[in-house]
Amino acid sequence: MLLKDKTVVITGGAGLNGLGFATARLMAAHGARVAVLDLERADPAAAAAQLGPGHRGIVADVTDKASCDAAAAAVLEAFGRIDALVNNAGITQPARTLAISGTDYDRILDVSLRGTLYMSQAVLPAMQEQGSGSIVCISSVSAQRGGGILGGPHYSAAKAGVLGLARAMAREFGPEGIRINSIAPGLIGTDIIKGKLTEEKKAEIAETIPLARLGRAEDIAGACVFLASDLSLYCTGITLDVNGGMLI
Ligand code: NAD
Repeated sequence: MLLKDKTVVITGGAGLNGLGFATARLMAAHGARVAVLDLERADPAAAAAQLGPGHRGIVADVTDKASCDAAAAAVLEAFGRIDALVNNAGITQPARTLAISGTDYDRILDVSLRGTLYMSQAVLPAMQEQGSGSIVCISSVSAQRGGGILGGPHYSAAKAGVLGLARAMAREFGPEGIRINSIAPGLIGTDIIKGKLTEEKKAEIAETIPLARLGRAEDIAGACVFLASDLSLYCTGITLDVNGGMLI
């Protein structure tokens, strides 16, 4: 029970095959009260109901500051505190540099990067008041290796931006007892890659990975629990590479 009596907020957490929901499930199993935030069409209330009683699903669009603030207020109203935030909402788009339009760029950066800023801004005042808190930002191996398997350069830029934002916030809020860390997942078999890779292509990619398989949503959930829990009390500003050895 690594998160007993802790309240955690997970953005983009309603997709039942996604990293966010796997994290919600593992955190709930570790005793956390979970607030699942997601777009209306993803039905966060239904996802929260799947976790069992005592959890909340809240409609929130991370690209909208007022929506983030309202979601954080709803969590505080329901649970009285916010111990951890997982900035997980993200979208991708396979595209080559010369084909990226201004609209594509804004769409991709708005969800991953602006969303990470807005949701962090929404929960930080409560964490400051508590004198403690942990924010986990989901980046990507695409930020580190320059180019994703599925995401375009604007996705790599957004996810690299997440790493910089997380480190800068870690420096700023460390003295107040608030830790901010990132996770850079490798290729994980969720809806984000569904239908985009043939089984043959997936097998080909797996052969290049030292652990010889694609990642599972649970692989990322474990890292999120570590960073949200007191097991990582002396970690801030770090990036956990959870990629099966892709960068060795
Ligand atoms: P996913 O598509 O299953 O989950 C993304 C979730 O974000 C969805 O539930 C979606 O509804 C939500 N979302 C989208 N726009 C939103 C918005 N404006 N406000 C709130 N929620 C919004 O994909 P996933 O693979 O579970 O991805 C989760 C995170 O992990 C993303 O940030 C993604 O970029 C990152 N990531 C995934 C992989 C991978 O291989 N699957 C690798 C590296 C990083």
